[in-house]
Amino acid sequence: MIKKSENAFCFSIGNKKYLFNANTLKMFEVEEDQYKLVEAFDEHSELNQNSQAVKELIDEGFFVFKELKYMDLKKKRYEMASKADKNYISYLRISLTEGCNMRCKYCFVAEEFEKKKHSMDEDKFISIIEDFITHNYKNNVSIQYFGGEPLLKMNLIKIGNEMLKSAIADGKIKSANQEVVTNGTLINEDIINYFHENDIKCTISLDGLKEINDRNRIFADGSGTYDTVVSKCQLIKSMNGRVSFLMTPSKDNLDYLPRSIQYMIDELGADEININAPQPRVDGWDVDGAFLADKIIQSIEICQDCNIPFNHPASNLIFLLQRHELQRYSCIVLASK
Ligand code: SF4
Repeated sequence: MIKKSENAFCFSIGNKKYLFNANTLKMFEVEEDQYKLVEAFDEHSELNQNSQAVKELIDEGFFVFKELKYMDLKKKRYEMASKADKNYISYLRISLTEGCNMRCKYCFVAEEFEKKKHSMDEDKFISIIEDFITHNYKNNVSIQYFGGEPLLKMNLIKIGNEMLKSAIADGKIKSANQEVVTNGTLINEDIINYFHENDIKCTISLDGLKEINDRNRIFADGSGTYDTVVSKCQLIKSMNGRVSFLMTPSKDNLDYLPRSIQYMIDELGADEININAPQPRVDGWDVDGAFLADKIIQSIEICQDCNIPFNHPASNLIFLLQRHELQRYSCIVLASK
C-alpha cells in the first residue's frame, strides 16, 4: 500500500512551491499539482500510479511502499564516510587570551569572564601546537588564532607560525592555513608585514556603518571603535593587503545588515565579508531566526552582484543541501580534504 513518506516536507516561498525529502536531502521546485498531491495526501487519498507526476514523486521517495528509516540511511552514510576518511582533527581554533582592549556590549567573553580573564601561557601553547602537528602527520591543517583579542598575544602567533612552518619543512604536515580574527585596533605596519610575509589571513571585526558599529563595539572608555578600525583597514589597503570583515548580527544592527555590507564593499574596499552567529545569551539569541535568514538572503544577493566572497551562518547548509550531504565535520570544515 502506497503512502506519503514521513520524510516528505512541503513548503512555499512566495509563489514558488517546494518539496524536500529529508532522507535523500533533495529539494525540488514543483508545479502546484505535484505539490498538492503530496501536501493534501491522507489515508483516504487515491493515487493514479500511472500518471507521470505520481511516478516522479515515487521515484524521488515522496510516496513510498515501505518507509526507509531515516536512521538506516544516516547510518549507511556515516559508514561510507568513515571508510573514506581518516579520523583526525585538522582544524584548531585556539583562544590565546580572554583579555581584550575593547568592551563590546554583546561580548560573551566579557560576560563570562568578567572577573577572571585568563591568557594562554607559552609552554601550554607550545605543547598544544606540538600535539596538533603530531596528530596530523602528513595532513593539511588549519588554525584560527582567536580571543579575547589575539593580537595581545602576538608572541604566541609568531611561535605558532614558526612551529607550523618547521613542521612543513620537516615533512611532518603538508600545509597550514593560518587566520587571526581580531578587533583590528592593535594592527600596525609590523603586524601587517608579518602576516603578509607569512601568509596569515587577518579577519577584522566591524559591524558596518559608524553609527551602527559604535552602538556595540566600544573601547573601555565607552567611545566607539569605528574610526580606529577603519584607519587600520586603510593602512592594510595602502600596503596592498586584503581586508576581510567579520560582522556580528545583533538586535541593534540586523535590520541594517545588507546596507552595511554594501557600504563596506563600496566605501571600505571589503575583499571578503563573514557573518558570525548571533552571540549566545542565557535565554538564547537576541535576534529572530527568520529575520536573520531574510537579511542573509539579501546580503547573499549583494555579495554575488559585487563578486565578494561571503561566509555566513547558512553557508554550510546551502553547500551541503546542494550536494545532498550530511554535515560530518566541524561547522567550519566542510570536507576532510
Ligand atoms: S573585540 Fe571581541 S573579545 Fe573584545 S570585547 Fe569585542 S567581542 Fe569581546
